[in-house]
Amino acid sequence: MKQEIMDRFITYVKVDTQSDGSSDTTPSTEGQWTLANMLVEELKTIGMEEVTVDENGYVMATLPSNSDKEIPVIGFLAHVDTATDFTGTNVKPQIVENYDGETIILNKDLHIELSPNDFPSLKEYKGHTLITTDGTTLLGADNKAGIAEIMTAMKYLIEHQEIKHGKIRVAFTPDEEIGRGPHKFNVAAFGAKYAYTMDGGPLGELEYESFNAASARIRILGKNIHPGSAKNKMVNAAKIAMELNGKLPVDEAPEHTEGYEGFYHLTGLKGDVEQTDMSYIIRDHDKELFQKRKDRMQEIVDELREKYGQDKLQLEMNDTYYNMKEKIEPVKEIVDLASQAMKKLNIEPNIKPIRGGTDGSQLSFMGLPTPNIFTGGENYHGRHEYISVDNMIKATQVIIELVQLFEQEA
Ligand SMILES: [Zn+2]
Repeated sequence: MKQEIMDRFITYVKVDTQSDGSSDTTPSTEGQWTLANMLVEELKTIGMEEVTVDENGYVMATLPSNSDKEIPVIGFLAHVDTATDFTGTNVKPQIVENYDGETIILNKDLHIELSPNDFPSLKEYKGHTLITTDGTTLLGADNKAGIAEIMTAMKYLIEHQEIKHGKIRVAFTPDEEIGRGPHKFNVAAFGAKYAYTMDGGPLGELEYESFNAASARIRILGKNIHPGSAKNKMVNAAKIAMELNGKLPVDEAPEHTEGYEGFYHLTGLKGDVEQTDMSYIIRDHDKELFQKRKDRMQEIVDELREKYGQDKLQLEMNDTYYNMKEKIEPVKEIVDLASQAMKKLNIEPNIKPIRGGTDGSQLSFMGLPTPNIFTGGENYHGRHEYISVDNMIKATQVIIELVQLFEQEA
């Protein structure tokens, strides 16, 4: 399985599939079509059925049931795009066999290295086969490792008919990194009762709680007057912006929070006396606290409107996604089964709340409860991204165990 999964992974990461939030099309970039079409061919080649790609680049396929039992249809998903934070053009993966636990030189000429001093968890991978970047791009293990794992698991199941399972659906989707993954996902066409995204990080990760998320954009309109004659006339939009931010609790920011602690995050600030634009993201796992945060933002804007004039501040606040726990908790057995599958493989499940969202956060609210399982990758979205091939194989085995557990439970 090792060579096979490595070959797949390396083929996928060489396709530049970085998504682009400024594009209106789906997928947002042409490279995602390239990979989607490659995956369609591969799914057919390994013997999957009902292989389709729709007009928005969503690839779906079926592995039919080989059991007489009534078993819920289970789905596995991964996204084809890579993050926008760092370039994904011309990825040149490097293979480190039998990793010795020491510093890996990613790029000699540019003096870029991957060192356990900066990334202590590297130590845990002693003896593993690692795949790294050459220091000039991201790797794209997020989420091409997930694709390689799902593909390899399906091929394994096709070649091992003695392993009993129900109907399995797989989907490879575009534009997760720009938050649009589920937007055009056809839940009805997919037809699964439950699904799993193979989109987590290190070994054992299992997630079914995400943030509740909103964005707020504030435009402040000032009035610029010659400073020599500005008394009682000038309104300085930039200073109102500072006043606004000053009313938010200093400690409730990403750099001061962890675990279940929510935050306000100033993601952008641009302006001058005449006009200043601010953007925030608001996050909280707890639904009530999430609402309180949004209320507080509204109150602050209202206070400043009272002070400077109703027309001086514009606020646009939108919900982005919700904590999937609300939809997964009632079917908690799907998390328990994933946990059991890991334990059967001697993997200690690491269940923790995501300080972010996954495609599952939206899909769960679209009627498809979707927890998230590890892929084995580390340091996503940057040049220090790497993945353990050993743990990719374990993720593949989790899929294979999990579908058997669903069959046995039925
Ligand atoms: Zn991802």
